[in-house]
Amino acid sequence: MNFKYTLDDKRYHTFNYYLKTKYKQKIAKISLNADFTCPNRDGTSGTGGCLFCSDSGSGDFAGDPKDSLQLQFDKVSQMMKRKWPDCKYIAYFQANSNTYGSIKKLKETFEPFVNKKDVVGIDIATRPDCLNDEIIEYLADLNQRTDLWIELGLQTIHEESAQWFNRGYSLSVFEKALHQLREHNISVCVHIINGLPVETSEMMLQTVEYLSRQDIQGIKIHMLYALKNSRIARYMETHQIDFMEREAYIDLVVRQLELLPPHVVVQRLTGDGKQDELYGPLWSIKKVTILNDITKRMKALDTYQGQRYPRS
Ligand code: SF4
Repeated sequence: MNFKYTLDDKRYHTFNYYLKTKYKQKIAKISLNADFTCPNRDGTSGTGGCLFCSDSGSGDFAGDPKDSLQLQFDKVSQMMKRKWPDCKYIAYFQANSNTYGSIKKLKETFEPFVNKKDVVGIDIATRPDCLNDEIIEYLADLNQRTDLWIELGLQTIHEESAQWFNRGYSLSVFEKALHQLREHNISVCVHIINGLPVETSEMMLQTVEYLSRQDIQGIKIHMLYALKNSRIARYMETHQIDFMEREAYIDLVVRQLELLPPHVVVQRLTGDGKQDELYGPLWSIKKVTILNDITKRMKALDTYQGQRYPRS
């Protein structure tokens, strides 16, 4: 597969292209908040959560957990229908760790979306240490009945960096979970963060090099950012953090895309914080221009996703 000259004028395998090719119609993700918590917040794996996590459990665009999941879904889908009458949806369980609960709770959460009208898939964000054998078995069954994606927040392969931001699990835990999910052919999207201040660009490239050798189907690349009133913003009152510069971020992302196998779907290349709550870096607000400049840079260098991916 060579994406050099294709894909909505991009040079990487966009999520938009993946959806258009697979479904041949407009598909929208609807972010939901199922009111789970996270073992890295409640003391099971850690307390306080990952340093960059927002108060909403990194689900800033998810619905209001005071509303039922159906209401959260309906509010957004009704808006979408006005713009795209034939739109279909992926129910995206975004906030906190959405497999951190009993099988009963998981079934109550996900089953109503399996055969729901106009829902083509379910996307579940979670942590690899929230996937025991029983849960994997349930997800394997779910995968037979819907287009299932599991999103895992790895962020980095470097243990010392993971300790710095308080990830609360080791790389081997990720590897075990990935292996188990892939044994059941479940699609896995991995999140990484560029710009951890304890890392060099070389270390960030090493994370992508590592992932390029793993059996993953999607990736979300974020930059480190801080929201006002978040744990990292409070940390910055007493510690200096130099956010990545915009140009350095674009350069790095282009090099990371070159390393990724062409089939890996790039679901995100920027941060995902709410604009009015952003503390820094302020350049990250203009997401569209960042994406445009990544594409421009790839064109100028005549490069593309997978250009440096070792094929043998
Ligand atoms: S694992 Fe996710 S939800 Fe939990 S603290 Fe870290 S970023 Fe937040």
